[in-house]
Amino acid sequence: MKKERTLAEPFRIKMVEPLRMTSESYRDGVLREAGYNPFLLKSDDVYIDLLTDSGTGAMSDRQWAGVMVGDESYAGARSWQHLESVVKELTGMPYILPTHQGRAAERILYGLIGGKNKVFLSNTHFDTTRANIEFTGAQAIDLPAAEAADTQSDFPFKGNMDLLKMEREIINRGSENIAAVIMTITNNSAGGQPVSMENMRAVRALCSAHKLMLVVDGCRMAENSYFIRHREPAYANKSYEAIAREVNAMADVFIMSAKKDGLVNIGGVLAMKSEQLYRQCTNLLIISEGFTTYGGLAGRDMEAMAIGLREVFDPDYLHYRIRSTMYLGEQLRAKGVPVLWPVGGHAVYVDAKKLYSNIPVEQFPGQVLVCDLYLKGGIRCVEVGSVMFGKYDKNNCLIPAQHELVRLAVPRRVYTQSHIDYVVDVFDDILELTDKTNGYRIVEEPPFLRHFTARFEKI
Ligand SMILES: *Cc1c(COP(=O)(O)O)cnc(C)c1O
Repeated sequence: MKKERTLAEPFRIKMVEPLRMTSESYRDGVLREAGYNPFLLKSDDVYIDLLTDSGTGAMSDRQWAGVMVGDESYAGARSWQHLESVVKELTGMPYILPTHQGRAAERILYGLIGGKNKVFLSNTHFDTTRANIEFTGAQAIDLPAAEAADTQSDFPFKGNMDLLKMEREIINRGSENIAAVIMTITNNSAGGQPVSMENMRAVRALCSAHKLMLVVDGCRMAENSYFIRHREPAYANKSYEAIAREVNAMADVFIMSAKKDGLVNIGGVLAMKSEQLYRQCTNLLIISEGFTTYGGLAGRDMEAMAIGLREVFDPDYLHYRIRSTMYLGEQLRAKGVPVLWPVGGHAVYVDAKKLYSNIPVEQFPGQVLVCDLYLKGGIRCVEVGSVMFGKYDKNNCLIPAQHELVRLAVPRRVYTQSHIDYVVDVFDDILELTDKTNGYRIVEEPPFLRHFTARFEKI
């Protein structure tokens, strides 16, 4: 077989940020000081940071030029008009509000339409989405497609909504109790898996039949468009932007953290079709975020976001983006590392329970892998397993999470192919450790979202 040509980046480097190289014994010391929780490490001690793809991307020279011409007027700023026109075009919606990040838009929207006895249905609620919904007293129900349960099958759209379950929930609960249906695109909490146009259309039809509000959480709408174009034959000749417009046009409300496909380090968007809802959202925005033409952002942030929302649809960029994430997954799989399949848009997930099969889940195999990757290679990533989602029964026994995964999230336009090859190489060292039998115990944990600040001890 002919070797595939190296995937070279469709950009060159104009400014560099030096990275500090550290030794394994140095990392051993700082990891112990951080209580074996890489969230508590200093970023200066990290070589390749795959903790998250949120707000960690690199801006282009055009975006930095936009920063310089940002209009900092309190009201009616030029940069706001630029952002508004781009979002109007992408969503087809007449009412647009800026927010400082995604969860601010969520708090405003779900604060208004949520409340006790209300129910939200989603292909999978992202954790801030769920938190904002549950904070209002409402219930958030995940209805991921059945195909998503098999982590090794090739099913192309594992981010889809389960349509039969959705219909059943609507009928059982009564459509008047359902505040909204939320389609998260791509499906972040389900491995960054895409949603098909066909599934979107069916969800829209069900929402229309039962008069339900449809919200699109489009944080990664460009990445999703890439998958639709390459996996749904009818879309093979459509532009990525046209595909995103078609998806967004089906929604009543569009919500987005621009820290993902906005290609900026901070920012969010809330867009809608209803004037009445817009008036209500405006009131809350002014109380908490700021006036309607800046919403917690500087003019320069909005300028960079407007430019980023166009750049993200560049075919060369998107091909590089999706292929480079896939490359990491393919290389790891070829080495025999158990990887969630197919690879999603923004991250590669490793099945740590399979990799460290001798470590009991009570000793957190995912946390072991996270620590070993830091120790061996200075790579930082996050456990998505029983540290993050585990619960305890009344005898204080762990009720483990469904999977013990480790997420390697890939920041946009930050690391080169050789950085990724380096990560792949570090897994050679990891594979030598997999007959380990001991993991970690938690020695200190907060009551909520413990994965951020918990401390561990080696067993
Ligand atoms: C990141 C994210 C959010 C929240 O956005 P922030 O900017 O982090 O507040 C909401 N939904 C999804 C799908 C996300 O990935």
